[in-house]
Amino acid sequence: MNDSPKQKGLRKKLVLELIKKGIKDKNVLNAINLIPRHFFLDLDFVNFAYVDKAYPIGFNQTISQPYTVAFQSEALELKKGDKILEIGSGSGYQTAILVLMKAQVYSIERINKLYRKSKKILKSINLMPKKIIWKDGYLGLIDDAPFDKILIAAACKEIPTQLIKQLKIGGKMIVPIGNEKNQIMNLIIRLSENKIKKIEMGNFLFVPMLKNKI
Ligand code: SAH
Repeated sequence: MNDSPKQKGLRKKLVLELIKKGIKDKNVLNAINLIPRHFFLDLDFVNFAYVDKAYPIGFNQTISQPYTVAFQSEALELKKGDKILEIGSGSGYQTAILVLMKAQVYSIERINKLYRKSKKILKSINLMPKKIIWKDGYLGLIDDAPFDKILIAAACKEIPTQLIKQLKIGGKMIVPIGNEKNQIMNLIIRLSENKIKKIEMGNFLFVPMLKNKI
């Protein structure tokens, strides 16, 4: 796959747009600047790769909007070496951003064909996460828990309490919560064994988080 000077230039413009929209984390912006988003899109949409929008990736799913990817990554205050569970690998674009930011990434996807496709792309650009797995994300990864951070890229109807149990004390989860039309981004901090703090961070739109792998 080719990453042309034009595409690199469009990426720089996208970074400036994200800064205007409020993204500040230099590591996040650097990752957006370096990862060729057009590698993760179907041919029909390659020309729109650096437009700040979500696009179809098949199976009724979408690649997240760059602003959303940046927002979720920034909210988690990712540090090098952080162990992070990502639910909803989708195209693999967000996964690549997290790997480039030097997190230890564990990513789960429920749709087998998307799982296989994203894995192939991530391998080809040398940004494989620690683990990428075809599974129902509601189950998390008990054997690899606890995690410093959990990023959920699909909308949950309510706080996924079973996943909070896989978060370290002091760990953070970023998750959109709501119905198909109206969701609020929640930053959840696990304060103790049974106590959480919830911070609401505005409206977003995601595809729903669904049960069972297919
Ligand atoms: N950040 C991804 C966004 C993917 S869209 C990207 O930029 O490409 C959300 C993804 O979550 C979809 O691929 C969908 O199949 C997946 N998903 C939904 N419910 C899930 C579940 N229970 N477990 C794992 N993945 C799930």
